[in-house]
Amino acid sequence: MDGWPTTDVPELPGSGPRLSLYDTAQQAVRPTEPGDTARMYVCGITPYDATHLGHAATYLAFDLVQRVWRDAGHRVHYVQNVTDVDDPLLERAAHTGESWVGLAERETQLFREDMAALRVLPPDDYVGAVEAIPEITEAIAAMLEAGTAYRLDEDVYFPVDAAPGFGHESNYDRDTMLALFAERGGDPQRAGKRDPLDSVLWRGRRPSEPYWDTPLGPGRPGWHIECSVIALNRLGMRFDVQGGGSDLAFPHHEHSAAHAEALTGDEPFAQHYVHAGMIGLDGEKMSKSRGNLVLVSKLRAAGVDPMAIRLALLDGHYRDDREWTGGRLRAAEARLERWRAAVALPAAPPADELLTLVRDRLADDLDTPTALVAIDSWAASALDTADGVTDDAAPGLVADLVDALLGVDLR
Ligand code: ZN
Repeated sequence: MDGWPTTDVPELPGSGPRLSLYDTAQQAVRPTEPGDTARMYVCGITPYDATHLGHAATYLAFDLVQRVWRDAGHRVHYVQNVTDVDDPLLERAAHTGESWVGLAERETQLFREDMAALRVLPPDDYVGAVEAIPEITEAIAAMLEAGTAYRLDEDVYFPVDAAPGFGHESNYDRDTMLALFAERGGDPQRAGKRDPLDSVLWRGRRPSEPYWDTPLGPGRPGWHIECSVIALNRLGMRFDVQGGGSDLAFPHHEHSAAHAEALTGDEPFAQHYVHAGMIGLDGEKMSKSRGNLVLVSKLRAAGVDPMAIRLALLDGHYRDDREWTGGRLRAAEARLERWRAAVALPAAPPADELLTLVRDRLADDLDTPTALVAIDSWAASALDTADGVTDDAAPGLVADLVDALLGVDLR
């Protein structure tokens, strides 16, 4: 399916250092080691509700990954899916009486508009689950053939012992896995499974649910295999970064990796598993079920500058769970105003050291809070007319570096 419009990324002088990121699997910050083309897969939305700030924070984090890689001289192949058929979407549509297709199309379009407004660079391949059904069924058929999948009634399941490394991505013990599996859409109680942690690859036709006629029989794909196959068929195994929110570490990323590893007999699925923290409101995780969502589209409609939303989210470290507050947004608006005033000056203090510092901080597991403070210092001295040393190229360089590396348009 179509992504969203891209924005130009200014070229900066020289090139940035190698990006290191925290890898959930190895529980350490490690250098990424992409080839000429860095390969990244980030799990996309299930389009039943509009983009809230938790989504925005996740996609912004991986937007910075792409920007830092580009600045280090890599091309980037970025793939994202849309889970445009799955239980939460069907449940919402059944609840409101809307068609699930119409709901998915509308919310996907709103997501595109939010991402474009936030200047998130679009994926090269934006792939819906529905359009990927032929390739997903082909993979499941191959797994059945190889004995790394089994039929249970009209469904097909993945036996977790088919992937010897199962559990290596999230590092959770079995009790934690069982608890999270039950909490996050798994079916540990389903009778007849070989192991309670086995996950569904193919859900056979149910009354009043959409289905597709396929060589596996009528039905629809499971969520984890959707991402395995979409990533594998576009990026291959051992791609550089598998990303998403921290609530995807288990079961989603664990099972996606296990499916792909069982399917190919190769490992690892991804070199780094990278997870963004959750955004809370009033002390609670922002989620639909709690009814405390702050929507990007609502903020935009209220006249909030998307660049201020972007800066407000980048003011915290991507891996930290953090709170959204009105104060955070107002601080970001004030910061944006100061930065814009500074880059509008005819001359300002030299910014070469600032460029080096921002590059270094971002390359160190996307340390945006320190990078933002460094830009604040430069802007403060630029706006302090008592400071005599000026350079007429500096305002343009800072506007370019803030645009290229942070995605914030100051012009
Ligand atoms: Zn996914």
